[in-house]
Amino acid sequence: MTIAEVIVDVPTRQTNFPYSYVVPEALTDEIQPGMRVVVPFGKGDRKVEGFVVGLKDAADVTKADLTKLKPISGLMDLNPVVNPELLEMSQWLSETTYSFRISCLLTMLPNVMKAKYQTLVTPVPPVKDSWLQERFAVHPALPLDQEQFTTAELARLTKLRQQGKVQLQYQVQNQAKRKTELAVVNQIEDFAEVRQLIRKNTTGQLALLNQLEQQPQTPLKQRDLVQEPGITPAVINTFQKRGWVTKTEVEKYRDPNKEAIKPDQPKPLTADQRQAVTQINAAVTNHQATTFLLEGVTGSGKTEVYLQTIQCALDQSEQALMLVPEIALTPQMVSRVKNRFGSQVAILHSGLSNGEKYDEWRRINEGKAQVVVGARSAIFAPLAKLGLIILDEEHDPSYKQGDNPRYHTRDVALWRSRYHHCPVVLGSATPSLESRARAEKGVYQLLRLPQRINQQQLPAIQIVDMTDSVQRTGDLFSNELISAIKATLQRHEQVVLMLNRRGFSSFMLCRDCGYVLKCPHCDISLTMHLDTHTMKCHYCGYETAIPNECPQCHSRNIRYFGTGTEKATQQLQQLVPEARILRMDVDTTRKKGAHRRILHQFGEQQADILLGTQMIAKGLDFPNVTLVGVLNADTGLDLPDFRASERTFDLLTQVAGRAGRAEKSGQVIIQTFNPEHYAIQLAQRQDYEAFFHKEMQIRHLAGYSPYFYTVLVTVSALQEDAAAKEALRVSNLLQANVAPQTELLGPTPRPIARIKNRYYYQIIIKYKHDEQLPDALNRIQAISQTEIRKGFRIAIDVEPQSFM
Ligand code: ADP
Ligand code: ZN
Ligand code: ZN
Repeated sequence: MTIAEVIVDVPTRQTNFPYSYVVPEALTDEIQPGMRVVVPFGKGDRKVEGFVVGLKDAADVTKADLTKLKPISGLMDLNPVVNPELLEMSQWLSETTYSFRISCLLTMLPNVMKAKYQTLVTPVPPVKDSWLQERFAVHPALPLDQEQFTTAELARLTKLRQQGKVQLQYQVQNQAKRKTELAVVNQIEDFAEVRQLIRKNTTGQLALLNQLEQQPQTPLKQRDLVQEPGITPAVINTFQKRGWVTKTEVEKYRDPNKEAIKPDQPKPLTADQRQAVTQINAAVTNHQATTFLLEGVTGSGKTEVYLQTIQCALDQSEQALMLVPEIALTPQMVSRVKNRFGSQVAILHSGLSNGEKYDEWRRINEGKAQVVVGARSAIFAPLAKLGLIILDEEHDPSYKQGDNPRYHTRDVALWRSRYHHCPVVLGSATPSLESRARAEKGVYQLLRLPQRINQQQLPAIQIVDMTDSVQRTGDLFSNELISAIKATLQRHEQVVLMLNRRGFSSFMLCRDCGYVLKCPHCDISLTMHLDTHTMKCHYCGYETAIPNECPQCHSRNIRYFGTGTEKATQQLQQLVPEARILRMDVDTTRKKGAHRRILHQFGEQQADILLGTQMIAKGLDFPNVTLVGVLNADTGLDLPDFRASERTFDLLTQVAGRAGRAEKSGQVIIQTFNPEHYAIQLAQRQDYEAFFHKEMQIRHLAGYSPYFYTVLVTVSALQEDAAAKEALRVSNLLQANVAPQTELLGPTPRPIARIKNRYYYQIIIKYKHDEQLPDALNRIQAISQTEIRKGFRIAIDVEPQSFM
């Protein structure tokens, strides 16, 4: 007899210990670790989903224990959906992120595979209760949920259940739907014989026969067959009637990246690129788990290095995984990989529908894709023969997941690199301080591309002091920027303008009483949207009409601050009436494919100016862009986050890199209220190395990463005093269990203290070495489950990327 170890999915009773279940005789040959099963759980033997994480022989279990074990009810998969590597990783991931193993396992799967349960209620015959007769007259079974039944009815059902008059059934609704299409399967053995039976003038039949003869073993898609001259559905039906073919359904893969591929050849490398490629390829061929930090200025050709090292992995019959930040924002990068490697590439990102993601995942799982490009969660792509992992823009905050498991993609990449004995390449023009510091210590191997391709100069950057009102025209544009825009348009070149919206919104302020219109559910001011003429909360979606008088003092003297992209576009249109302006922000890119469309229009020079939020800073490569303007460089500098300077420096460097990438030289204008700030000054010089050293000193003095490690513990509740008390309790518990030299900051209200009516308190743990900390955090994780039932939520975030 076999015993299965199962991690069950019960949201409020999570533990990291697997439960043992007996594998029914009939399933012994079927069951494998990594499969999902349905098991009875708890007193009521409620049916829940679980993952088999291990199998053992019944001989290893005592007789007494064995009699207590329940059997597995059923299988949810016919093959393991989590391979041995990911199964092992899920254990490590849950330990290092203090999350439950079930959430780690679920994170690794495409959404459609996360099964939903439906509980169905059915009356037990004979049905005498008149209410039951009436309610179940049409459907013999109804889902047990709030939509079907009122609370009073639910209570009534509970009673009826106790009396044995209704029963519950659990139905697993697996949403994974494969798309299939019609195909024909050859049944002919002697083609010569059939050929004699077909009359000479039936060309369609002969054509079909030829097709079948060419590939007698493979099902042929009807859709492809009818493309051949003469072959029609009627011809196929004739063959079917005569028993020469049968019809079947074959899986149809949806191709999410329908854009035409423009095949592209490897470029001859520059000396710096060659050096980088040679070293990385040596690690690929020798199967070394080396981590490279590729520090290359914008436009230095990092992508070509990625492509040629991916080729090296493919040449070894191995696979490559390339991560990019929020891929929907970098369609150009995706095209470049597709153009080089064609249909071997699979793409995984949030812009795909669930079905499309599932298709891509399946292609990868079945070994049909050799190169995977994707955003954060693609790090779990089930590639079995991984030969190289690349993280482009490795400093990007989107690599950190905000919910459980709160993992950093870089850490998972390093784990996989050790597992597969393959190198990792971390690429960036502005590496995170953590990575650059590791390179300094020799933990990572530093590779530098200090020059742009073709010796292009980095664009000259000019800083405009916006505190000097003489320089301004309107609130948002300086005279310099406007005249530079006009000059650029006269040369028929293009302009990219960025409005930094980090920690920034267009809010309403009363000039008489100082009232700011805030969301009633969140501690955040409402943002004005001109398209819908409403004020919206970006956290909870609350919406209200734009007021024309102050809700507090009824003054009509109100002002809208912090202009959004819409208002910027309007202002710019007035200042430069001849300009054709494209706007790109969350509002104009909400529809699927809109992002790509806007960039395409701009690339085709159907517009002169692309004005957008920071989403335009990344990865764009348009040769005709010679002027880049940053409207407000410093809105992120004042945020209560020790990475505020680093983020500002990164953003300015990235956006400046969009100018002058081809033969024409570029110009960058940065408008700022803090012209003296080192992040702005060093961004002007595009001197990452100087910024790194300066910022390291500051972090050293303040005791922050990379000198110290941080863990953020957040506690929330619906009542503010309850949240504060609970946070204090957690803080005391930590204090009693961490090492004496570990520092605890807080509890304090989080900078945005209330979201969706929940109050948040935070505790920051700072430490260098603390062997007791894991145990202390595990205790917090363990109590979080009992606290959830009391209405509290506790989150543990190791190395948080945001403190908002
Ligand atoms: P990065 O990713 O470092 O910003 P890119 O990879 O986008 O830089 O390269 C900038 C430009 O230089 C691109 O248009 C790219 O096609 C081109 N390029 C890269 N390497 C070479 C090379 N070895 N020879 C010619 N052009 C190159
Ligand atoms: Zn809100
Ligand atoms: Zn007022």
